[in-house]
Amino acid sequence: MTETPEPEEEGAQTFADLGVHDDVLEALAEMGWESPTPVQRDCYPLAIAGHDVIVQSRTGTGKTGAFGIPLVDGLLSDDGDEQALVLAPTRELALQSAREIAKLGKGRGIDTVAVYGGASMEQQIRALEKGARVISGTPGRVLDHLKRGTMKASRLRVLVLDEADEMLSMGFAKELHAIIERLPAKRQTLLFSATVDRAIKRVAEKYMTDPQFLGLSGDHVGALGIEHFVYMVSGVGRVANLITVLETEDPESALIFCNTKAETEEVCAALQRAGFNAEWLNGDRPQREREEVLARVRREEVRFLVATDVAARGIDVSHLTHVINFSLPGNVEQYVHRTGRTGRAGKTGTAITLVGPTELGILYYLRLQYRIFPVERTLPSEGEQRTRQEADRIAMIEAAYPKAPSEQELALVRRFMTHSNAESMLAGLLGAFFGTETEDVDKVAASRRRRGKEHVDAHSNGNGQKPAPEEAEEVPTATLSVNVGRRDELKASELGRLLRDRTGLKRKEIGRIRVRDEHALVDVPEDRAQDVIESMAGAVLKDRELQLELAKND
Ligand code: AMP
Repeated sequence: MTETPEPEEEGAQTFADLGVHDDVLEALAEMGWESPTPVQRDCYPLAIAGHDVIVQSRTGTGKTGAFGIPLVDGLLSDDGDEQALVLAPTRELALQSAREIAKLGKGRGIDTVAVYGGASMEQQIRALEKGARVISGTPGRVLDHLKRGTMKASRLRVLVLDEADEMLSMGFAKELHAIIERLPAKRQTLLFSATVDRAIKRVAEKYMTDPQFLGLSGDHVGALGIEHFVYMVSGVGRVANLITVLETEDPESALIFCNTKAETEEVCAALQRAGFNAEWLNGDRPQREREEVLARVRREEVRFLVATDVAARGIDVSHLTHVINFSLPGNVEQYVHRTGRTGRAGKTGTAITLVGPTELGILYYLRLQYRIFPVERTLPSEGEQRTRQEADRIAMIEAAYPKAPSEQELALVRRFMTHSNAESMLAGLLGAFFGTETEDVDKVAASRRRRGKEHVDAHSNGNGQKPAPEEAEEVPTATLSVNVGRRDELKASELGRLLRDRTGLKRKEIGRIRVRDEHALVDVPEDRAQDVIESMAGAVLKDRELQLELAKND
């Protein structure tokens, strides 16, 4: 494990390197922003050069600054005549952007106003009349102002669509079109969206001119919307620690990052030996094998993908629920890149990091620079692990003897159980049953649990190649049919996420989601089915108002 990490690409390191004006640099210093986040670094030159830009990124990556900095720095003419319009899906976001842009533009005399529904129209009109240069608002209220003439469409030279996917999914498509149709054709448009699906592309095609795209390959997504956890480890026996973490957290699936190529293979081999369904990916693996692994990952046949930063870049692993850092990367930006790989399709993801004594400095910078404060968790004690192992063993015996005993057997068992030496006799029988070294048995027993409830013989190596099925919940389920499907580019994870958000169902309560051409099927606990149908009423996904009903048959 002495190999050096694969190199990261170079880029501007400071705002001054980017060419930001002094008065904006001053504002940035006052705000405590020392260096640009990746999305700010990459978006600035494109925006300043006058391009339309589509940026795939989410809250927490510094995306407000990514449009705010060029906006105040040079997108509007100096004569005070031109204005910028920032559209956001919620009033909170509109307010937040207005505040941040006001701070950024302080030294350049750029006033901002937030316009949104539910607040006084008069106050907003006064601020507009006073000549606010940046208007940050929600679509409904902005359209009102345009219709009343209190906002002049002809002055709007820059349009920012913030969280465009959210605006569409919240049903603002009509307002958006009505607003954009009123704007001058000669304008600059910047579109920010966490997901770039067909609906977003249609908006871009219709309303943007030769847009530049900053996409996932640059890993501009990250930070907020992700839960961060760290486990402090000694640095010795790290692979065993990782296995304990996987056992304890029991993630549905994960992308496991290693700092070196050699580590990916070692960690993957150890996971496979422990009975996990794992694969590895690094630059040394021949192309054909890499493609095979990726195809299996896409088919969701791989639970844990162990990879280097470079190998994981640009591959679509949005269905993986967790990002796990086997060790902290060498710099904080890389941590943000890595953890941005989870929670993409839906809205949240989980990042778990093993932190050894030599990596504490990076953790410190993560808190300081990105204000990411991971929750510290502790590895389970030996006692807790032992309890788990015992439960595994009992489950194994249970699986080996599923049939009820005969009358004759029962009589013998009863007599046995009342014997004064029953405990030692049973201990001997258990020894005979397991027959192998204690450690091996525990590995096999644990492996059986990891793989679900399928039967694994006590003497097998427990290392079959089948993917781990979900732990089957033994509750009666009902199948619901939902009117979105493959034609809408639906991803199962998106629907799962929405179901969890709106109905409060837990991940475990939602069965496998089958995406068919025109609809999707999902199993939910039978006694919650009606409630789920009602809670989902009015929800919009992929431009469609959702309709759920009990499926006739699957
Ligand atoms: P956003 O993605 O725009 O919601 O930004 C997330 C948070 O990061 C906000 O609290 C910003 O104030 C902060 N932030 C944005 N850019 C930087 C930067 N370059 N340095 C430090 N903090 C930043």
